[in-house]
Amino acid sequence: IHPVYAAMERTVFDRMSALAREHGAINLGQGFPDAPGPEPVLEAAARALREKSNQYPPGAGLPELSEAVCGYYARRQGLALSPEQVTVTSGATEAIAAAVLALVQPGDEVILFQPAYDAYAPMVRRAGGVPVSVMLQPPHFRYDADALERAITPRTRVLMVNDPLNPAGTVAGDAELAALAQACLRHDLIAICDEVWEDVRFDGRPHRSLMALEGMAERSVKIGSAGKIFGITGWKIGWMIAQGELATALSRAHQFLTYASAPPLQWAVAEGLAMPDAMLAGQRAEWAASHTRLKAGLEGAGFTVLPNAATWFLCVDLAASGIALTDRQFSERAVTDAGVATVPVSALYESEGQPEHIVRFCFTKPDGVLDEAVARLGKWR
Ligand code: GLN
Repeated sequence: IHPVYAAMERTVFDRMSALAREHGAINLGQGFPDAPGPEPVLEAAARALREKSNQYPPGAGLPELSEAVCGYYARRQGLALSPEQVTVTSGATEAIAAAVLALVQPGDEVILFQPAYDAYAPMVRRAGGVPVSVMLQPPHFRYDADALERAITPRTRVLMVNDPLNPAGTVAGDAELAALAQACLRHDLIAICDEVWEDVRFDGRPHRSLMALEGMAERSVKIGSAGKIFGITGWKIGWMIAQGELATALSRAHQFLTYASAPPLQWAVAEGLAMPDAMLAGQRAEWAASHTRLKAGLEGAGFTVLPNAATWFLCVDLAASGIALTDRQFSERAVTDAGVATVPVSALYESEGQPEHIVRFCFTKPDGVLDEAVARLGKWR
């Protein structure tokens, strides 16, 4: 057994979902909406299952989906992409794995900003790379150009950037993006840009991709997710986009990971991405309203909620809320004693010195569920 896996625990998301089931708790841990997903997209999948092919699609993805991804980004982000640049993956997690495998060689250093999705570091290690942490500090989790510069060495090859940032729900500003791009250009680095939350924003602003900055098109891998755009996390349809040789290498890595993903779901995502933006407006408005509701509820119960602008999550600062538990203690006890599952944010840090007073809540749940969670937590705290 490879040492990376020998000592590995189950992911915090899986663990908290299992605990929630075991204790019959409300699950505000792992990120997923309770709603089934947009009806027109579900309808398209049902139709595709009967009327289109259920055999292997082209390994790099259905051409119709690659086209739709390009059309979507042209419309939403002003990006000029072509379908050969796109490889469809079985979710963004596969795209992250493929990108790391394609880019990281033994001994290469990879900059990981912390907190980070817990898939990054093990994947880098399994590829023989060395994760190098750069801390993002609450409450704003800003990218700090000096901290980044200090972490870069002659062995640094890749930066992994998650913007908007899970778990914080913060969005990088123009100056932060510019600093990241400058570091890539100055030190000849490739950026793996995990932008799965690009279209889950409640600040009304369009997403700005690192790939769109001067000089970055040829040194970025942009990763996106239908699961997040449509709120259908179990479909596991994602994609990665790059240029030239880099795009080819990504699709080679993908072909021996999963080779391809379920074609009816690819058809449906292609249709969904081409639908008018208004199709998703209702769902977006509901998510934003759920954010407001849980934030107000938690604040009313005496919790301090950190500022954010995106994702399905909000974070509570336990210390500022007058709660003298670590985030892990809080999350464990909130499941068993209050009946509410959350995610301790320290589980999403790799290195020492992480904050231990931040807890993440997923808010894409019906009003009644959010209200009940708040009532339980308010009574318990
Ligand atoms: N990204 C999801 C979250 O933050 C978890 C993904 C997973 O569990 N594979 O909740």
